[in-house]
This record gives sequence, C-alpha cells and structure tokens, in this order.
Amino acid sequence: MIQCEDHGLCISTAMEVADRICTEKRLKFTDLRKDMLRMIWDGHAPQKAYGLLSKLQVKNHSAKPATVYRSLDFLLENGFIHKVKSLNAFVGCSHPSKHDECYFLICDSCKEISECCDSNITSAIKATTKRNQFFVKNTTLEIAGHCNACSKRTE
Ligand SMILES: [Zn+2]
Ligand SMILES: [Zn+2]
Ligand SMILES: [Zn+2]
Repeated sequence: MIQCEDHGLCISTAMEVADRICTEKRLKFTDLRKDMLRMIWDGHAPQKAYGLLSKLQVKNHSAKPATVYRSLDFLLENGFIHKVKSLNAFVGCSHPSKHDECYFLICDSCKEISECCDSNITSAIKATTKRNQFFVKNTTLEIAGHCNACSKRTE
C-alpha cells in the first residue's frame, strides 16, 4: 500500500493541478474528462479501460468505449495520467507539471503503483543508448515487485 496519509487530498490536489494546467494551456477540462480523472484517481492502483467504462456508465448510460478512449487520450497527452504498458492500465500522475525522469514501481501484491524519479537511471539510459547509437523517443521502465508494506506483511 502506498502510504498516503489522506487519499482525499491526493485526489483534490490532482484535480486542482489538472484544472490549473488546463486553464494555462486553454484546454477544455470538460465534466467527462474530470469524471475520468477522478475515477482513475480512485486509488493508487491502475485502472483498466473497461472498468472505467462500466463506472462511467453508472452515471452516463450512453457512454461508449470511444468516449472513454478519447478522454483517456486527452489525459495522457497532457500528462495527467500514465499508461502502464505491462498491465495495459492507467494510473494518475502525481506531478504532471514537472514530469521527467520518472519510473514505475509496481507492487504485485497490492497492485499499487508509485512513481520514482531518478536522474541516475536517466543518465545510464542516455549513456547506453548513445553507445549503441540509438535515438530514444521515449522510455518506459516498469519495475515489478513488492512494496515495503506488502513485503513486511509476508515476512
Ligand atoms: Zn493517495
Ligand atoms: Zn508522472
Ligand atoms: Zn504492495
């Protein structure tokens, strides 16, 4: 489990930051996009697209998969959420305005994801790709294992 003291605060902060970025960039933060972001922030565990669709349909019966994918694209493009490729699921970003050098730690046990930032990893990737004369477009690093709380529980 991620030790956030008050998850309500995680949600409200994420919503405020997204709202501010949208205002700055003159993007439309529609009710649908807000609902989607709030649903993804339901916890620190990743959410699958079909799960989001069924949640959305509780409120909006006419919601279709395309509706969900379009708003996911918007949230991804603006860095409010991340796609966790190994799980094919989505998780909220806790620092979308300065998102850089972030890697994911995925707990197999509680399924929660945290982002860690480490410039050492970034420079190692730069050095390695340079040595191989490879031009990087984007980097995904997802590390699976057990979070501190879960590993204590199984000891
Ligand atoms: Zn939280
Ligand atoms: Zn992030
Ligand atoms: Zn865990």
